[in-house]
Amino acid sequence: MCGIVGVVRLKPQNDVTLGKLIKTCLERLEYRGYDSVGFAVLKNGELVYRKKKGKIADVSPALRFEEFDGSIGVGHTRWATHGPPNDANAHPHMDCTRSIAVVHNGIIANYAKLKDELLALGHKFLSETDTEVFAHLFEQNIKTSQTCYEAFKKAVSQITGSYALVCICLKEPEKMFFARKNTPLVIGVSEEQIFVASDIPAFLEYTNRVIVINDNELGYVSTDGKIVIENLLTSQKVQPYSRLRLIPWTAELARKGGYPHYMIKEIHEQPIAIGDTVRYNANDSALSLAAELVNSARNLFLVGAGTAHYASLTGRDALALLARKPSIPVISSEFSLFSKTATESDVVLAVSQSGETHDTLMAIRSFKEKGAKVISICNVMESAIPRESHIQLYTKAGPEIGVAATKTFVSQVSLLQLLAVRVGLLNGSLKETEASEYIKKLDEIPVLVERNIALSEVRAKELARIFKNKQSAYYLSRGTGVPLAKEGALKVKEVAYIHAEAYEAGESKHGPISLVSEGFPVVFVFSDNEVFDQMRSNLVEMRSRGAYTVGLIGKERKAELAETLDYSFDLSASDSLLNTIAFAPTLQLIAYYLALERGYDPDKPRNLAKTVTVE
Ligand code: GLU
Repeated sequence: MCGIVGVVRLKPQNDVTLGKLIKTCLERLEYRGYDSVGFAVLKNGELVYRKKKGKIADVSPALRFEEFDGSIGVGHTRWATHGPPNDANAHPHMDCTRSIAVVHNGIIANYAKLKDELLALGHKFLSETDTEVFAHLFEQNIKTSQTCYEAFKKAVSQITGSYALVCICLKEPEKMFFARKNTPLVIGVSEEQIFVASDIPAFLEYTNRVIVINDNELGYVSTDGKIVIENLLTSQKVQPYSRLRLIPWTAELARKGGYPHYMIKEIHEQPIAIGDTVRYNANDSALSLAAELVNSARNLFLVGAGTAHYASLTGRDALALLARKPSIPVISSEFSLFSKTATESDVVLAVSQSGETHDTLMAIRSFKEKGAKVISICNVMESAIPRESHIQLYTKAGPEIGVAATKTFVSQVSLLQLLAVRVGLLNGSLKETEASEYIKKLDEIPVLVERNIALSEVRAKELARIFKNKQSAYYLSRGTGVPLAKEGALKVKEVAYIHAEAYEAGESKHGPISLVSEGFPVVFVFSDNEVFDQMRSNLVEMRSRGAYTVGLIGKERKAELAETLDYSFDLSASDSLLNTIAFAPTLQLIAYYLALERGYDPDKPRNLAKTVTVE
């Protein structure tokens, strides 16, 4: 995720330069990414661009936005996906002749193949990004097209993946081109200028008149005020002003995409986060290296804390089921019991959203002292843990601002499953056809997640009203559902301050069931199809002691439990492991709405910090 903005000025203005205006827009988008900044402006037959690694406030003196004026310009604040944050990888990216400037949010999935083709045609690349490919592809298509727009359209039709793109080009300096797929892009219209940006806050202080661009749409804005939007697949033109909306938001609300909290915004971002994580890693050579290392490990330790630990538990299950590879989950702060046993033949898989988690960092250092190799899975490029790891894998969830992890959890789980498939292929536990079938299902998960969010929202709100005054709850599951139950209980503790305990459902009769009395809430996660019958018995056990039973269950099996569940979420389900991703948003929504019902701010849970950098 990152922030992009393009500005087309309709009238000359003396009070503020175009560069200054772009800077202001980028400051409003910095919550979307902040590892590097850049801009380009077109003026008097010249295309000028400047870019640098760092946050806007730090690099502004060097970039000197204010000194650059013009009628058309683009800006970018980056959250690196391809290539580390550095000056060369910062956007905008240029073609060979430096007459095209491109800013991009998302991942061009087929960039490697396109890059090879363009290199063979003689194009020279200056960065490691996927984005630069588009600048050269645009340049290449201009050679065989009547107009720049025709070339832009051809270039867009050649890329796959996710993108919000804004481009300017010296050859037709009165136009700014844009395209969108799987990543947000909106137009803001005022008397003075037209904006095209990742998000409304970019331009909200200048206009609240907004035209939303839909997936697979592209077009251009020109200095005479014309806006062209069409569908890439059907070439059907859209009447832009028929979509004009007035946005009544405050700047703060706009930063949250119109949602009242970051947590709920990020819950809704999960389909994109999963899609980007899978697409990126499927094409990354680091995944193959990691799979080889995992496969060769004598002992494999999965190290993480909090939500990352629960993601690791799903990794343990995926590795066992898809690759027949046993592993040892380790809570980061408990590392010393395990690192004492480590040798040079062992491998650590460290999971951390921020890449700065103190306990996890200490753990990997200790394992490394014994010669173990470290693979990390983090969401922040070049953070401490990846820097100290032998192989770096990245989730591509974009910045997560809500303190309680949501989109980074499902991204970690997705990436661990992708890794497990690779290991399974390597060691022969999975046949090619089985692996590609699994990947196909993994590719469909974002759609399921989206559907389950929509299915769960009203139900979660209603359940929150029922549970509002409860003091305690159990979250139960079996098999691959157990880590999910644990994560669901953690969310409730974190944001709603209700004591929630998760354990393996079969354990009830070995102790915990004695706490259950009339109305005691028990949430059952029926995500693992293999253990359905045993789970049903556990459900009946609880129900007959008066528990208020809630079930997360695949729609198809709902009828079998209609009599025994007091409340159910009937979800779109896939295979047992994949349900760990598909069912997660429902548990997050229950916690979120419980926090609201109880009058708490879910974005700022008491006593918690986003990145735990202390022991
Ligand atoms: N893939 C692009 C890059 O790595 C854009 C990143 C983003 O969307 O944050 O530069």
